[in-house]
Amino acid sequence: MRVIRSVALIDRAGSFDLALGGDRVRAISAAADATPPRWLAMPSLVNLHAHANRAYAAPAQRPLSLGDAVASAKRERASATVEDIQSRATRLMRRSIAHGVSSVRTHTDIDAITGMRAIEGVLAAASEVASSLDVEVVAFASAAADPCHPGTQALFAEAVGRGASLIGAVPALCANPAAALEALLDAALALGVPLDVHLDEHLDAPKALIHQLVDGTVARGLQGRVTVSHACVLSAMSRDDVRRLLDRMAEACIVLVVLPELNLYLQARGNGAPRVRGLAPVVEALKAGVAVRFGTDNVRDWFFPFGDGDMLETGFVGAMAAHVDAPEELSSLICGGRRRIEVGDVADLLLIPASSLDDALARRPGGRVLLRRGCVVGAAGGAGAAISGQAGLVDAAD
Ligand SMILES: [Zn+2]
Repeated sequence: MRVIRSVALIDRAGSFDLALGGDRVRAISAAADATPPRWLAMPSLVNLHAHANRAYAAPAQRPLSLGDAVASAKRERASATVEDIQSRATRLMRRSIAHGVSSVRTHTDIDAITGMRAIEGVLAAASEVASSLDVEVVAFASAAADPCHPGTQALFAEAVGRGASLIGAVPALCANPAAALEALLDAALALGVPLDVHLDEHLDAPKALIHQLVDGTVARGLQGRVTVSHACVLSAMSRDDVRRLLDRMAEACIVLVVLPELNLYLQARGNGAPRVRGLAPVVEALKAGVAVRFGTDNVRDWFFPFGDGDMLETGFVGAMAAHVDAPEELSSLICGGRRRIEVGDVADLLLIPASSLDDALARRPGGRVLLRRGCVVGAAGGAGAAISGQAGLVDAAD
């Protein structure tokens, strides 16, 4: 049995010792010595929405609007090589590991211009860090690929054959958004994979497609296999309409991914100072029983000039923007639904030199230690090392 001594936890006050055995958390007990906690111990971070193939790629220009960013990204896709993409994706994945992220879902462009180059580059990057980071690849029909077209359906099938585990698209950018959403749902059903759709990334309530997504999910029996990313339009609907819709989303087990930085940055952009926040209502969604997650979305690309793949930073921005106060709810948003460390959990854990979650969010300190299945992961993404003697962690003979 190995013991991590004197840690603070998210869900209770005091100092505790965590006992690990094999790849699991075996016991949580009051600290054997009376010293204040040296670390905050929490579940490892999970980024449920990234675009690793574009990360760090953009010049210092600022997008004039979401549409302007889409046009810039499209121009660049023509020239990006597999090596370019692998290099960007590897950088984002290694930075994620250094921040304490154990899992990333990345939307990876497929279209007639990109073909399978982005899928190839991202899968190659994922294999470089496979011992430290779980990577879920979404075959993402970009603005240049309408799911209604047979060519896009063939690209979905090819990407899934190569290792993508979900499919996605942006129906709003297609000629007939409602038809594109139906085609995406049909493709997910036919291929037997879950879908994660960029939907309603705007504030124009009459154009909302999210009701159609809920109907289409239930009609096809896809409950539990659908994620909606963005859904900013929920912030522009009446509270009663939102409540009814959130109840239906919870019933259909549709996951809602909110992207605090990008929604703040791009919504209502280009028309003077913003008057709205542009985030789907996180607190109401949690109350309705919807599974809500945060993601970084774009990092240093045409859509967003900042970020570094740090989900703690995303949690900090999201806590402010969405008024999420409860530490266990914040943990759930940035740790893949895990609200606390529990006995019996797989020991995918993060140690932060901080005294509480608020302290960690306030300072976002370096020097974090990521554990995967009970082993310390090197900050550079190397194979897990034995926990003994690492980073002040203490081994105890049993
Ligand atoms: Zn996105």
